[in-house]
Amino acid sequence: MNIALLGSGSEGNAVLIADGSSAILVDAGFSGSRLQERLNVTGYSFSDIRALVITHEHSDHVRGAGVLARRLRIPVFATEGTLRGGRSKFGHLPHTHCLEGGRPIEIAGFQVHPFDISHDAEQPVGFVVEHGSARLGVCTDSGCVTHLMRQRLRLCDALILETNHDSTMLLAGPYPWELKQRIRSRVGHLSNDDAGGLLEELWHPGLSHIFLAHLSRENNLPDLARLAAEDALRRAGCFNGDTRIHVALQDEVTEMISI
Ligand SMILES: [Zn+2]
Ligand SMILES: [Zn+2]
Repeated sequence: MNIALLGSGSEGNAVLIADGSSAILVDAGFSGSRLQERLNVTGYSFSDIRALVITHEHSDHVRGAGVLARRLRIPVFATEGTLRGGRSKFGHLPHTHCLEGGRPIEIAGFQVHPFDISHDAEQPVGFVVEHGSARLGVCTDSGCVTHLMRQRLRLCDALILETNHDSTMLLAGPYPWELKQRIRSRVGHLSNDDAGGLLEELWHPGLSHIFLAHLSRENNLPDLARLAAEDALRRAGCFNGDTRIHVALQDEVTEMISI
């Protein structure tokens, strides 16, 4: 399974998951032309994309979804709440399939396991995506770490985890108090320390790659997110550097990794 983040943050998110010539996108939060540009960087193209799988209806996750689904005539997989909440953003979708937390589904040869997460959207989900023995966990936009997330994200070969903000930077930063409270709430976003705690629990010797995702430009720094993750791995007993940490940025496509 090949994985690359085409960009990550509050201005747009999309994850390419591919195997051979079959590929899916988890979220499509960039315009169609930008998605195409970024896909080109990976060596894949629109013609390889078989389906869109959506985590929730916020614009930074669905901005290009409707355009892409219509242009490529591919199905959109999302929860009922996401399809309902995002109706005006999606526009007409040629094919939709309802996802439900706890109900695995095969999508273009990938086994996709949605699970509920805690975020201020209609029915947000994270995913575990499996192909053969490879297992990827995707969890961004969650206000807290839940028991279910801990369970579902166990024993992944690669993880995409939100490290939205550094708590000190957020509190001292320029956002209005209400927005700070929303981000810190149980339906907001995970801090570096929240993600670090989860990583400490989830680390196992088979975890090869961690992508730190959805970093806030105003309330985080790539080095702070990386340090928090490195600390977490050390606490978990990982000293040998076999687990690689990638910090995903808003304007760059990450390295493509294989698991
Ligand atoms: Zn988001
Ligand atoms: Zn969101």
